[in-house]
Amino acid sequence: MGLNDGMVGGRTESVDVTVVGSGPNGLAAAVICARAGLSVQVFEAQPTFGGGARTAADQEFAGVSHDICSAVHPLALASPFLAEFDLRARGVTLAVPEVAYGNPLPGRPAAIGYHDLERTCDELDDGASWRRLLAPLVERDDAVLKLVLGDKRSIPGDVVAAARFGVRLLEQGTPAWRALSGEDARALFSGVAAHTISQMPSLVSAGAGLMLAMLAHTVGWPIPVGGSQAIPDALIADLRAHGGTLIAGEPVASPPDGVVIFDTAPTALQSIYRDRIPSRYAKALRRYTFGPGVAKVDFVLSDEIPWTDSRLANAPTLHLGGTREHMASAERDVAAGRHPEWPMVLAALPHLADPGRIDAQGRRPLWTYAHVPSGSTVDQTETVTKVFERFAPGFRDVVVAARSIPAAQMSDHNANYVGGDIGVGGNTMWHALAGPTLRWNPWSTPIDGVYLCSSATPPGGGVHGMAGYYAARTVLRREFGIKELPKLSP
Ligand SMILES: Cc1cc2nc3c(=O)[nH]c(=O)nc-3n(C[C@H](O)[C@H](O)[C@H](O)COP(=O)(O)OP(=O)(O)OC[C@H]3O[C@@H](n4cnc5c(N)ncnc54)[C@H](O)[C@@H]3O)c2cc1C
Repeated sequence: MGLNDGMVGGRTESVDVTVVGSGPNGLAAAVICARAGLSVQVFEAQPTFGGGARTAADQEFAGVSHDICSAVHPLALASPFLAEFDLRARGVTLAVPEVAYGNPLPGRPAAIGYHDLERTCDELDDGASWRRLLAPLVERDDAVLKLVLGDKRSIPGDVVAAARFGVRLLEQGTPAWRALSGEDARALFSGVAAHTISQMPSLVSAGAGLMLAMLAHTVGWPIPVGGSQAIPDALIADLRAHGGTLIAGEPVASPPDGVVIFDTAPTALQSIYRDRIPSRYAKALRRYTFGPGVAKVDFVLSDEIPWTDSRLANAPTLHLGGTREHMASAERDVAAGRHPEWPMVLAALPHLADPGRIDAQGRRPLWTYAHVPSGSTVDQTETVTKVFERFAPGFRDVVVAARSIPAAQMSDHNANYVGGDIGVGGNTMWHALAGPTLRWNPWSTPIDGVYLCSSATPPGGGVHGMAGYYAARTVLRREFGIKELPKLSP
């Protein structure tokens, strides 16, 4: 088509839509626009594509690969966009383990979230309480997902599901969270809720916790075979097949012409559009804040972790924050700018679902990150190692190497993670509903032809592509008069 002539980085391009950033949301928007018959180009600042879903070889042991950001992908199966796009039909294997996640506990057996709800309940002190929390959501999982991953602007189609979710949100997002009984069940839920990196209890952490805990018992918590890079690679292949082009190593610093969709933090628009930003919007962007950060530590291990509770040997995903009380206290410290001695640590052992991740010498990756204050420069390798040692004495002996990225350096490999905030400022209930600034359509901006699609826009973080989907839907309708979305299946 080529309706617009765009100038980026001194190069003139003739395209309908420019997408800035090749994360899952940027690629989702690009795929939809390309499939709708528009010409699309994607500019990526980093040398490789995929944003928060990239996999890279270890710097020393080339046979071991690390997931730089995301590693575990319930949303790749649950997202309506990715479900229709059909990753499986495109050769992406999402291996669903029997154990979704494990939460070791001090001085007692671990809490385990199995794919099987009944097995989870059977092993908890008060399984009936866990069942009461989640079984009614599992029963109506499609409707719950439509609500949580929805555009937050449409009236819920299933009021029963909305009511069930709402009641549980109020319960687990407030001091009423004591209604969930059993130290193990409480820790199990809080470990999942802590994915939002916010104080607990809070509505935003409860919302994410309910969705992710429900998904463990429906689609499961899969590991993509070969690493998370398999997901953006499938999107890239489809984009190219529909005429889209991608350019890596090209940070966009000045306004591209024509329609532009930014898979970036909203604040990136400030330096790109400067005085073209209407003053009220400029003020809102200046007020935009980012949350606490994460410090990544990727280990190379020579063998399995010597867990005290042997059931953890089958858990590819681990929440290592201890009890609910401990997690809540550590998250409070982080929010107040302090480094807890024992922070919330999340970990993944992808080889347990994908043995191909073990190299010929038996080395395997251990993916971890710790919650830390925004902008922290502290290397968390020793802290994370000590957390593992609590539950697996002798852990140190299987560590071959550790690669640390303090929170302050997270933005070096993805400018969206300001201060190490992997939620891009979106991890509050306000942002989850309203979007980055208060607008009826949170994917639009008051700058002519400029849209946002990153995880800073609803429905927020995770590899689901839904923010890209909603942004593309807006762009097609508003800019090109296309009301019917293209088919996405292969
Ligand atoms: C450590 C970590 C662990 C995570 N774990 C999980 C997990 O297990 N499961 C899960 O579902 N999610 C996980 N996430 C979250 C998930 O990765 C993100 O929510 C998701 O990638 C967001 O997608 P996006 O397209 O909005 O942005 P991103 O994936 O962040 O992509 C944005 C892209 O824009 C590029 N960019 C930014 N500015 C510019 C510019 N000016 N010019 C050109 N390009 C630019 C960036 O380089 C980047 O490639 C994790 C994230 C991190 C960091």
